[in-house]
Amino acid sequence: MKFGGTSVASADRVKRVARLIKSHSKDNEIVVVASAIKGVTDDLIQISESVRKGSKTDVEKFIDRFKKLHMDMAKTSMTKEKTRKELRNVLNVVIKELEDVLNGMVLLGEVTPKSQDYLLSFGERLTTSILSYALKDIGISTESLTGKNTGIITDSNYGEAKPLMDTTKLRVSNKIIPMLRNGTVPVVTGFVGADQNGNLTTLGRGGSDYTATIIASCINADEVWLWTDVDGLMTADPRIVKNAKVLKEVSYAEAMEMALFGAKYMHPRALEPILDKGIPTRIRNTFKSENNGTQVLKNPKINTRQIVKSVSMIRNTALIDVRGGSMVGVPGIAAKIFDIMGKNNINIMMISQSPSESSISMVVSKNDLDSAVNSLELSLLGKVIKTINVTDNVAIIAAVGSGMRGIKGVASRIFGAIAKHDVNVMMIAQGSSELNLAFVVNDKDCEEAVRALHEEFELSKIE
Ligand code: ADP
Ligand code: ASP
Ligand code: MG
Repeated sequence: MKFGGTSVASADRVKRVARLIKSHSKDNEIVVVASAIKGVTDDLIQISESVRKGSKTDVEKFIDRFKKLHMDMAKTSMTKEKTRKELRNVLNVVIKELEDVLNGMVLLGEVTPKSQDYLLSFGERLTTSILSYALKDIGISTESLTGKNTGIITDSNYGEAKPLMDTTKLRVSNKIIPMLRNGTVPVVTGFVGADQNGNLTTLGRGGSDYTATIIASCINADEVWLWTDVDGLMTADPRIVKNAKVLKEVSYAEAMEMALFGAKYMHPRALEPILDKGIPTRIRNTFKSENNGTQVLKNPKINTRQIVKSVSMIRNTALIDVRGGSMVGVPGIAAKIFDIMGKNNINIMMISQSPSESSISMVVSKNDLDSAVNSLELSLLGKVIKTINVTDNVAIIAAVGSGMRGIKGVASRIFGAIAKHDVNVMMIAQGSSELNLAFVVNDKDCEEAVRALHEEFELSKIE
């Protein structure tokens, strides 16, 4: 069971989560994975900016706020004085470590990917301790663990680390299975692992989901439950489409496609570790635990004919269009362009080339835009490329559903609906898997476009 940032965002919620775990632990062996309190990871990222600027007072203020947030919560989530006191001591030690780390970083005026990951780990480390003590407080035998102590070993790609599954499997099963047999509930930090040298790493934003599935795969769990603040995986982000519906079942392929295409309900790689074993995964609402949520399965039985099941979007992206007469019919141009992007560590989110071959369009994250344009300019402008055009405020919209495969007229329905809402489409791409159709619009139109497709495919009526 993984609990997301909103599920542990107040003392009442922590108590609720502890009771939920207790009620399920009667008939099940449970491993708990906890995220940082919602917003805390963002704050930690932001404070690293102050560290770069050497702003000691900002850092001091941050530490005070951070300490107060967790200490207040710890105080009111315990009912017994004994557990409250023990927890306070544990948190003091962790917060002292955070202080030392931050002061060291300020002194150096430097944030490396490695030190940033160390810093980010503190959010999860604190909630894990709080939740573990909340369980103790209501009589559950439990132990809190970091991802590192649990045995999650990753590569050293700080910020987006990937688990080394063979060694992880051995370590995690050796650590976790005896605890479960003993009747102890392990509470593990989400998002955090360690590389082979013991340095802390993080698994990418939203990585607690990934932690849960990595552990599930290592111990051959029967199911993974991702507890969050919505009823399940929905036909669209409920913050954008008010009548978005919960999907009862989706396939792994659909859920992965949705996660990749911006429905930020789950880490995009979270299903990888459990795909082979086909471990069923549920997305459920912590605050409405009586609901079944969404089940992610190999072969869903319902809504298999539904053409589009969900509409999502990725914002903060930019469109780069490169043109040049000498691109026509010359082999290797695309390779040169993508090679430059790859060497500069720029992730291309979407590509399309017109058949006349005189232009190639790419979508990149806005954060990568400067570096992408610079490197193209330096290496290729005036040689194979004549012009580089940038539209820096676009969004990718994606319609996802396995029912699209082999069905005629899906594209015409999608673009017909978009045109009716007077939204201009700047670029289109469909993978040959036909699981999704994605296109690019001006960012100001993106919510309108999502709503238009939701309406066109009558997703508010889905069963
Ligand atoms: P947690 O902290 O529990 O991991 P997240 O904020 O990471 O929660 O993910 C849950 C959020 O994902 C929801 O609150 C919702 O706003 C958003 N979301 C975006 N697209 C979808 C979708 N298609 N279905 C469900 N939730 C979605
Ligand atoms: N706390 C991390 C984040 O905000 C991981 C997670 O919430 O899953 O990205
Ligand atoms: Mg999340």
